[in-house]
Amino acid sequence: MASGPIRILVVAAHPADAFDQAGGTLAHHVAEGDQVSALIVTGGARSHDWQMVDRHLKADEPVDLEKDSDEGHEKKTDETRRACAELGITDLHFFGLEDDEEMLTQEIVFRIAEKFRELRPHIVITHHPYEEGGFKMHASVGRGVLYARRACTGSSRLSGKPWLVPVVYFMNPMAYVNHNSLNQGVGFFRSDVYVDITDVVEKKVRAMDCIESQYYAGLYARKATEIGDGAHGNMVMTSYAEQFQRYTAQICYKLPMSDFEVRTADEPREQTMIRRGYMLDHMASMPEGQRPNGLPYEFDRDLYDP
Ligand SMILES: [Zn+2]
Repeated sequence: MASGPIRILVVAAHPADAFDQAGGTLAHHVAEGDQVSALIVTGGARSHDWQMVDRHLKADEPVDLEKDSDEGHEKKTDETRRACAELGITDLHFFGLEDDEEMLTQEIVFRIAEKFRELRPHIVITHHPYEEGGFKMHASVGRGVLYARRACTGSSRLSGKPWLVPVVYFMNPMAYVNHNSLNQGVGFFRSDVYVDITDVVEKKVRAMDCIESQYYAGLYARKATEIGDGAHGNMVMTSYAEQFQRYTAQICYKLPMSDFEVRTADEPREQTMIRRGYMLDHMASMPEGQRPNGLPYEFDRDLYDP
């Protein structure tokens, strides 16, 4: 562990990415005095304002897409500020780029690099550069971070003084391994570090509740946390965890080992299982008849047969 405060920057493709994959970890760092910032590359409305999509689906007349998109960007910016505040993250930087432009450009690389020189982060957390086979905005931003890390160390055409980001982590690296065939069987993905977020998991759910434009608020916030962070936690004998992959290997004086790992050696198994079994059930219970979107779920078996 570094002996003094460090600066951490999460570089997110879309607004909710600023906290929904590493937010518990970031909350820990905020609480312990580290400087935590977030850079959100796109406005996110065109791809993630699903309330807007639904309005367009229902509209009888042509809609003003640009006006709706601008309002969607504003709404998502406000949601993100409120969500990050739940976790103690207040230093947010928005590029506001269009989120239907999936490709990485040199201009975006340089903009990220200039942000590195401005904020001088010790740790950058971002998306895995091969997420979903590399064909995704997340992957473009992950690659942009690695290119920017290189660009800002030398004498590139950038303002500010050179800075080498010492450590890069890819957040939730295994999340999409089975999502499409391009990711399967590729050795690029692994989990090097799990951060136990059980003590702040409820804050993370409350942050997810702020994202109404994507219908995260309510049941989905709880289910996503339970099956995502809950599954990660279960893998490492705790309740809720976030997982990370290091870009470069760690440099230490001794081999790193936490007291948590030491304790598990001879811990009574009953205690282990109680910890693994802790659930968000007290938060998942919704008031009678009050689904957040007002719609009952209807399973239609006939949809599965030709
Ligand atoms: Zn995203």
